Amino acid sequence: MTTMSVHDSATATRRTFLGAMGAASTAMLAAAAPASAQRATGRPYPQAIRPLPPDGGRRFGYAVVGLGKYALNQILPAFARCRTSRLAALVSGDPAKARRVADQYGVDHAHLYDYAGFDRIANDPTIDAVYIILPNALHAEFSIRASRAGKHVLCEKPMATSAADCRRMIVAAREAKRELMIGYRCHYDPVNRKAAALLREKTVGTPRIVTTDNSDVLAFDDPSAQWRVTRALSGGGSLMDLGIYGVNGARYLLDEDPVEVRAMIPPTDDPHFREVEDRISWLMRYRSGAMVHGSSSFSTAATTRFGVQGTGAGMRLDPATGYYGNRVIVERAEGAQSWSDPIFTIPEPDQFAGQLDHLAEALARKERVRSTGEEGMQDVRLIEAIYEAARTGRPISTDWGNWRNG
Ligand code: NDP
Repeated sequence: MTTMSVHDSATATRRTFLGAMGAASTAMLAAAAPASAQRATGRPYPQAIRPLPPDGGRRFGYAVVGLGKYALNQILPAFARCRTSRLAALVSGDPAKARRVADQYGVDHAHLYDYAGFDRIANDPTIDAVYIILPNALHAEFSIRASRAGKHVLCEKPMATSAADCRRMIVAAREAKRELMIGYRCHYDPVNRKAAALLREKTVGTPRIVTTDNSDVLAFDDPSAQWRVTRALSGGGSLMDLGIYGVNGARYLLDEDPVEVRAMIPPTDDPHFREVEDRISWLMRYRSGAMVHGSSSFSTAATTRFGVQGTGAGMRLDPATGYYGNRVIVERAEGAQSWSDPIFTIPEPDQFAGQLDHLAEALARKERVRSTGEEGMQDVRLIEAIYEAARTGRPISTDWGNWRNG
């Protein structure tokens, strides 16, 4: 059977369109291009960008805590693309860096804090929420202090280094009547959201086997790598840092929680990995019959990919959880119907700004956020189970009835 593929028809349409455009635009340029047009000029603000809230609707102010790589390279620049949020304050242990960053982003020095003086944020009405971007083991302390200061919290992944700390964070936020959101940026990534929606629509039939692999080679001369291999600050190795994307990803792709976990950590002679694991593999069983095999590594070339094999088709996300350029591909047996990402016409994703605005907008709508503290705690509990399975060599039950199990 020969049919015109999606790509053939798209190409034909585009060719026709470009041909017509070419003729029309040449005529237009000839008619309307006087020499005076060759000068620099301004253009109106694009209509497509949503305007700021009307006057009187003050933007939602964030205090960013910890000015490391992720904060400086991804989060602070994203405020320029936010609809409803703004950078209000900075918290850092390095005052000179904090002043420099403040000047760069237009933050008044009156809104700079250090870790010892952090609790003074309670008296700063420009701060609505605190975004914690510290090494993992410091998340719980600063989240609880922020809740007690009356602020909402956005906390980076992993939520904490133990489920007990996660519980303390949830209680502190609840007692303060403030929201606690986890920085699962992929929950705000249109590609991952599209993949989850396609699976709900049974695009691959019934999902049976899921694979998740996340790795990167740590550069040990980088301070950002050093705390990641120090258990007291990281709580664990590649699983805590990278594997968590697969643990969480399998849950939102399948919309289900696993009921049993097995795992293996291979021995290593590398002295960098005395305290935490480099590589780890795990297997998860789900009540629906689905199985997940996942891996993470700190010593293999960078990758982030998910695969879902269903009874009718397969789906690949590769890259799955990158900062930019994630792709979802649905693969069928018939070559001509093998789809790739252009068919989904997903706009350039901006997970970072989307995540920052989500907290502000969910609060304005009086709704819970998409990535709650309870969601973050479930992953930390599963990570604890994976470590226990690897340590004991036995399957560990994780059938404790989370909300994704209904
Ligand atoms: P970095 O090491 O680059 O930055 C951490 C910052 O925390 C430091 O610059 C420092 O800021 C502050 N800090 C306070 N106390 C300590 C300490 N004892 N040791 C080291 N740093 C300290 O880490 P990252 O930015 O890469 O990661 C920070 C958090 O963000 C982690 O939880 C990580 O998992 C998460 N993350 C999330 C990503 C995502 O895609 N969602 C991507 C990358 C990281 P200062 O000098 O201002 O005090």
